[in-house]
Amino acid sequence: MRVFISVDMEGISGAVAWPQTEPGKFDYDRMRKLMTEETNAAIEGALEAGATEVLVNDSHDGMRNLLLEDLNPEARLITGDHKPMSMMEGVGPGFDAVFLVGYHSQAGSLGVLNHTYTGRVVHYWVNGKVMGETGMNALIAGFHGIPVVMVTGDSAVAAEAKELLGTVEAVAVKEPKSQFSASCLHPKKARALIKEAAKKALGNLGNYRPLVPSTPSTVRLMFNASVYADSAAIMPGAVRIDPLTVEFTAPEYLTAYRGARTMMHLTFS
Ligand SMILES: [Zn+2]
Repeated sequence: MRVFISVDMEGISGAVAWPQTEPGKFDYDRMRKLMTEETNAAIEGALEAGATEVLVNDSHDGMRNLLLEDLNPEARLITGDHKPMSMMEGVGPGFDAVFLVGYHSQAGSLGVLNHTYTGRVVHYWVNGKVMGETGMNALIAGFHGIPVVMVTGDSAVAAEAKELLGTVEAVAVKEPKSQFSASCLHPKKARALIKEAAKKALGNLGNYRPLVPSTPSTVRLMFNASVYADSAAIMPGAVRIDPLTVEFTAPEYLTAYRGARTMMHLTFS
């Protein structure tokens, strides 16, 4: 049984403010340790459930947050940036299950540190359905026929995951009080819940269904300033919908997703 784990930081218990999640800023070193330990809880649950291979992909910011030397030695780690599939680099045929650990809810929701990919995105749609990073990445797993069986983060992303995926182990390690505050579980309790949910999911793999993207695939991005839509619209094939919104259609989701990422990158040029 092969398991892929994508790990973000904003959904880790204890993380509530942007600087805590930014390398070099106050509290960042604490957060990366907590992130590494929540990842270990997911790995340990997977191993106890019989996983023979666990591949972890660091999916936050510069993607060099997880501490390799503190990670469970049975897992491999993809660390570093500029990966073609970004938060899902490494997943593909042959994997049986995906965990999304430390995830956050979509931009414009009531979740802690909610956003979608960059702070410039107001909404991301795929074939008319608005979604956050959980959906964006579950569709990549689904393209390969792999179900997302566990999502961990605050109660907002847990609800988002259930609404999107139906049957999924959704672990809430904190309750939002605002975008930048939360009532947090102690890390030991968060880890215990994550480990148990990982074991439960892999013990009942037949219960979960991949989120298979429909074809063709249209991605739509609304930005929070027209200049970002100006930049995104430079991409060949991009269609300007309104001052803030750009759309791109491809025969299948992986190409559409890469189009969306290209348009988001163009906003930084
Ligand atoms: Zn992140």
